[in-house]
Amino acid sequence: MNSFGAGIPFGMMNRDRAYNLALDKSTGPLWLRVWLLAISDANQSGHAEYGPGVLASTLGVTTASKAVQGAIRTAVKRGVLSPGSSSRCLVVDRWLWRTGVGSTGCKAHGVETAADRRRATNGLPF
Ligand SMILES: [Zn+2]
Repeated sequence: MNSFGAGIPFGMMNRDRAYNLALDKSTGPLWLRVWLLAISDANQSGHAEYGPGVLASTLGVTTASKAVQGAIRTAVKRGVLSPGSSSRCLVVDRWLWRTGVGSTGCKAHGVETAADRRRATNGLPF
């Protein structure tokens, strides 16, 4: 059984290749490049966090542009990113893509990591 469940076909993706495709403006529409960047960076919870302006600058879009916001909205409408995605954190749809690599938390969305939960359960300070 895989992480999607028994009988659900799945594959793998090269995250470095996804990153390079995301940066290449000839790859396709910005919403697709945003999604490719998200899956190249997402952690085990599907969250890919970015500092202020980092997403736009990585994609070669001016930070003053609304293009990135529109691309995120389109990616959510198409079901490749989850609602709640923003320029500070892209959340990959967990029924489309998953990884076992990276942390499980997200500061932008206030999601604790597994280590945070263990510390809280054991009464240890953060
Ligand atoms: Zn997040």
